[in-house]
Amino acid sequence: MIPRLIAEARKIVIKIGSNTLADQDGRMNAALLEEIVDQLGAFIKAGKQFVLVSSGAQVAGLSTMDKWARKRDIHYRQALCAVGQVELMDAWRRAFAPHKIHIAQILLTQDDFNDPIRTLNMRNTLFTLVDEGIIPIINENDTVSVEEIKIGDNDTLAAQSAVLWSADLLILLSDIDGLYDKNPREFPQAEFIGEVQDIDALHGGISIGGANSFGTGGIATKIEAARRVVPYGIPVIITHGGKPRALEALASGAQRGTAFPA
Ligand code: ADP
Repeated sequence: MIPRLIAEARKIVIKIGSNTLADQDGRMNAALLEEIVDQLGAFIKAGKQFVLVSSGAQVAGLSTMDKWARKRDIHYRQALCAVGQVELMDAWRRAFAPHKIHIAQILLTQDDFNDPIRTLNMRNTLFTLVDEGIIPIINENDTVSVEEIKIGDNDTLAAQSAVLWSADLLILLSDIDGLYDKNPREFPQAEFIGEVQDIDALHGGISIGGANSFGTGGIATKIEAARRVVPYGIPVIITHGGKPRALEALASGAQRGTAFPA
C-alpha cells in the first residue's frame, strides 16, 4: 500500500517533527537534514514535487541561545523561536545547497488560512515556488501566534498546507513508526496499525498517550491531520523520520508506516 501511494503521488507535503529534527542532546540534527534532502533530491529528479513543513525553531534556537533554556516566559519563548527560525532555515539551506536547490520560507498563522485573499496569495506563491523548482518550507509564525490565532501544532499546519497546495500525499515524519493501539512507550505490547480505512472507527479502539519532549501534538494531531485531508483525496502516511534513509525505505516497502488511504 505505502510504496504504491508514494509511486502514484507527484505533489508531496512532508512534515518533519521537532523530535525528529533534534538529536539525543536536543540539538539540531544536521546530518539527518542532509540525509532527508539527499533522498528528496533523487525523488525530485524522478519528477516529484515537495513542500516541507518543518518544526524545530525552538530546538534550533536552543542550540544557539542555550542560556534561555529555562526561560518559560512567553515573550522569551517567542523570541527563542524567532532566533531559532533563522538557524532552522540556515540548516535547511545548507542541506539543499549541494543539490543546487533553493528554498523559500513561509511563516503562517491560523488567521492566514481563515482569510480567502490570504489563502489565494499563499496558494499562488506555493505554486510559483514549486513550478520554479524551489522548495517551500512552511512553519507556524510563532512571533505573532498568540493563543487565539495559533494553529498550535505542525501536523494541522501540514494538513492545511496539503489541502491548500492540492497535494497528492501527506507524509508525517515522526519519532515513531506509526500508530499503535496504545502508546508503545508506556505499553511495550502495543500493536502496530498499518492501515486505517475508517478514521472514525479508530476512536475507542485505541488509546493515546502524551507527546515527547519537543513534540506538541502527539499522535492525536496526526490522526486529526488525516481526518482533515483524506476527504480531499489526499492520503496520509505516518512513519519514523529518524531511521536510515527513511523516505527511500518507505518507498521501497522496507520501512513500515501507518497509511490512511484516501
Ligand atoms: P512529532 O514531534 O513527530 O510531532 P510527537 O512527540 O508530537 O511527535 O508525537 C509522537 C509520539 O506520540 C510518539 O513518540 C508516542 O510516544 C506518542 N504516542 C502516544 N500514543 C500513541 C499511539 N497510540 N500510537 C503511537 N504513538 C503514540
